Amino acid sequence: MKKITKVLSVFLSVLMAMSVFVSAVSAEEAECTHEYVEETIAATCVEGGFTRYTCSLCGDSYEGDAVEALGHTYGSWIITKDETCAEDGVKYRECSVCDSSVSGHIEIGFVKAIGHDWDDGVVTEATCGQKGSTVYTCRNCGAQEIKDEKPALAHTYGEWVVVTEPTCTESGLKERTCSLCAETAEGHTQSEVISATGHDMQAKTVVPPEYKMQGYTIYECSKCGITENRDFTPALKGRVHSVELGEKIVVNYEEVAELNPVIDVDEDVAYSYSFRSDAENVATVDEDGNIIGKGMGKTVITCTVVDEYGNTETDTVEVQVKFTMANWMTIIRQVLQAAIDIVIGGLFGDVDFGGFLGGLFK
Ligand SMILES: [Zn+2]
Ligand SMILES: [Zn+2]
Ligand SMILES: [Zn+2]
Ligand SMILES: [Zn+2]
Ligand SMILES: [Zn+2]
Repeated sequence: MKKITKVLSVFLSVLMAMSVFVSAVSAEEAECTHEYVEETIAATCVEGGFTRYTCSLCGDSYEGDAVEALGHTYGSWIITKDETCAEDGVKYRECSVCDSSVSGHIEIGFVKAIGHDWDDGVVTEATCGQKGSTVYTCRNCGAQEIKDEKPALAHTYGEWVVVTEPTCTESGLKERTCSLCAETAEGHTQSEVISATGHDMQAKTVVPPEYKMQGYTIYECSKCGITENRDFTPALKGRVHSVELGEKIVVNYEEVAELNPVIDVDEDVAYSYSFRSDAENVATVDEDGNIIGKGMGKTVITCTVVDEYGNTETDTVEVQVKFTMANWMTIIRQVLQAAIDIVIGGLFGDVDFGGFLGGLFK
């Protein structure tokens, strides 16, 4: 109980203090009789105006009698850029009241582009080398617009004409022109390179090989005349120079003598040789030079040497075939036997005795 009384007394004392303060303020307010002074704030182009009332005694103030902003008082439009067919015009106007520091003092305006006034167009037909089109021109500004484009037609070319003949080594040039269009038209003249013909090499002279020197064929171009050596053949290693069979040879009937030909031929040159007897019924000769006596008498044996290049050398030797004593004895015996045969033959038949003797002596 004692405690509640204490809280209440604090509350009451606070309440009392507040009431003293409030009565003091209202006492002062109540005291001012307010003598307001008017101040008129004029409206401008962009801001409204009003009247401010301020008490000259207590300084209390308020505003009233609001007036709307006047808005700018623009002069005439001034054109800075005339409108054209394609571009807008630009103009401005200035407020005669305010100065340039005020927003909207200058107003900028645009005048819409007029748009082109196209004419009926000029038609250009497509020709060879040149496109066709219709060109429209603006009656106002002269601007042009190309429409309805058509591709160029093909040229009608004539025959090729050779301007520069090609040579064996250098290319030539040919041209042809269109019969329809003018010389100035694009593609009116066409030119093309003619390839060089190349040489026409013909074999002219064969130079045979010589000792240690190659042979070759001289070729000449039938058109320009230049020459070139081609088709080389190996140099000659040499040749056969001679063959010698020596002195006369005597060989007995049915016996063999050997020929030893001495062949003079350069080193490394290939060659072959052969033998031939003029009368093979007297003596034969084989490929190795072996002579065989075939009948009494004389003959000539020839040795022919041919080298790898076809060079030929020959030599001859005389060969005599003789009968030995034994040969003669045989012959005599045969003659006698023949005689006997003739006698018998005379009795019994015909025998060719002459033919028999002829067979011995040739
Ligand atoms: Zn006052
Ligand atoms: Zn203004
Ligand atoms: Zn125009
Ligand atoms: Zn043409
Ligand atoms: Zn040539």
